[in-house]
Amino acid sequence: MKLPKIRELIEAIKALVKGPYTSKFPKEAHVPHPNFRGQPKYNQDKCVGCLACVEVCPVGALDYKDETKDRDNPKRVLIHYTDTCIFCGQCEAACIADHGGIKASGDWELSFFDRKHEARETIDKELQLCEVCSSPIACKDHLRWISDRIGELTFSSPTLYLSRLKNLGIVDENIISAFKDQGRSDRIKILCARCRRETTLTTK
Ligand code: SF4
Ligand code: SF4
Repeated sequence: MKLPKIRELIEAIKALVKGPYTSKFPKEAHVPHPNFRGQPKYNQDKCVGCLACVEVCPVGALDYKDETKDRDNPKRVLIHYTDTCIFCGQCEAACIADHGGIKASGDWELSFFDRKHEARETIDKELQLCEVCSSPIACKDHLRWISDRIGELTFSSPTLYLSRLKNLGIVDENIISAFKDQGRSDRIKILCARCRRETTLTTK
C-alpha cells in the first residue's frame, strides 16, 4: 500500500476539522471570498464617461451609445454586457477616475431568463454637444475632470473654460456681446475641434 503524501494528509485533516470548502448553494446563498473578483459595476457618480474602459476591454463586453436626438438632454449610455464579461479587471485598472468609475464587485450570479434584455447594465452620462454643429465633444464630467487636472491651463482652451464657466453659471455676457460686435460670436461657444478651427480661421 502506498502511503499518502504529507501535504495531502495535512489537507485531509484540515478539511475534517474545518468542514468542506464547497458551499451548499443553491440551498444556501453562496458567500464568495472577500478577494473574489466578480462582475464589474459602473459607478454613476464617479464615472466621467471617458471610454478608456471600453477601449481596453479584451472581449467587447463594454460599449457605448451617444443619444443626441434630444438636444436639451444629450447623453452617453455606457453598456456592460454581463454575459460577455470574463471578469478580467482590465476596465477597473484602466479607469481614469481613480479606478472607481467601474469596479469589480462580489457578484457572480449571472443567470437570467431573457438574455437580450437582462444581460446588460447601463449608466447615463450627460454629454456636451458642439454649440455649432451639435456633434458630441465629450461627457460634461470628463471636461470637468480634464480642467481639474490641468488647472490654470484650462484657460488655454475656450471649450474647457467656457464649459467650466457655464457649469458654474457665470459666463460673462459682456464678453459675448464684445465678440458679437466683431462678428465672431461663435468663438465664445463650446465647439468641437473642427468648428473651433473653422471659426478661428473665418471672420463671419
Ligand atoms: S472585467 Fe474584463 S471583460 Fe469584463 S468588462 Fe471589464 S475589461 Fe471587459
Ligand atoms: S471614467 Fe472609468 S468607468 Fe467611466 S468611462 Fe472612463 S474608464 Fe470607464
